[in-house]
Amino acid sequence: MAQDIPRQRPPDMRIGFIGLGNMGGGMAANLVKAGHAVQAFDLSAEALARAREAGCTTHDAAADAVADADVVLTMLPNGAIVRAVYADAVLGKAPAGALLIDCSTIDVASARDVAGAATAQGYRFVDAPVSGGIAAANAGTLTFMVGGAADDFAAAQPVLAEMGKAVIHAGDAGAGQAAKICNNMLLGASMVATCETFAMAEKLGLDLQTFFDISSKASGQCWSMTSYCPVPGVGPVTPADNAYQGGFASALMLKDLRLAMQAAGDVGATVPMGEKAEALYAAFVESGKAGLDFSAIIETF
Ligand code: NAD
Repeated sequence: MAQDIPRQRPPDMRIGFIGLGNMGGGMAANLVKAGHAVQAFDLSAEALARAREAGCTTHDAAADAVADADVVLTMLPNGAIVRAVYADAVLGKAPAGALLIDCSTIDVASARDVAGAATAQGYRFVDAPVSGGIAAANAGTLTFMVGGAADDFAAAQPVLAEMGKAVIHAGDAGAGQAAKICNNMLLGASMVATCETFAMAEKLGLDLQTFFDISSKASGQCWSMTSYCPVPGVGPVTPADNAYQGGFASALMLKDLRLAMQAAGDVGATVPMGEKAEALYAAFVESGKAGLDFSAIIETF
């Protein structure tokens, strides 16, 4: 159930924000713009300097950034780091009853464990991974997929709405992460299918813009083609038109596909297309293409 962005803005809050990298930096800046007091911590001095420029106050330790926070937000690289930051610097350090929101993309099991530990200590917790890349984080147009109890979702929704265009309740704890990796598994597999199809269409002598015009109005249409075409000069302007710079890095697609394969194994799901996409992105990343947009995998074909 998509939730409308609220008409009334939430009251100004103290927000402890841990992890102000490519994504977190823009998200924190949008919370400052919305009038909140953002108390930042990151291991990187450069990230902290950018946070100060954006109007955050910065702290030398994560526990200090969250000590008097109404809300704690984390935007960190992986599940092991989220577990460690929560254990060392959030649980027992943030005020009792604070709302804890993890926006990192992490494995479902870590999200559920952190949620269990947080709620056992009387905190409110949601996992809220995002769709949309660095540009959306900067522009405040992310989509949040949220897992947690209904009243915790209701508390998190107005805060997340300050950084996004859509905030969707996916279900109980871990459901946000589950929705994110299922979506990105579909995206990875559909991008591979789009790329191999355009490569074959070219070999069959089809004009690629003509094939785009036909397929985008026929039953083959999908987002990877119509909104994010991997062929330069065909369809809308995409990273393909900028030598595959910017966009969503292949390394991050591989990260999400690996999380999807881990989750599939945990629940016994049969995902042959996801497995194939993971293998293709692993080979692509290992060939030195980690930083290229994920649509650059068309080079494989
Ligand atoms: P990033 O590497 O740019 O930022 C992560 C930040 O966390 C860094 O500044 C790093 O110094 C900091 N950090 C690491 N360990 C820390 C610790 N123990 N304490 C405090 N700070 C610590 O990564 P990013 O691109 O901002 O991605 C963040 C999350 O968002 C990831 O989980 C990623 O999968 C997800 N995501 C990224 C994108 C994207 O396009 N970049 C899109 C959707 C989701």
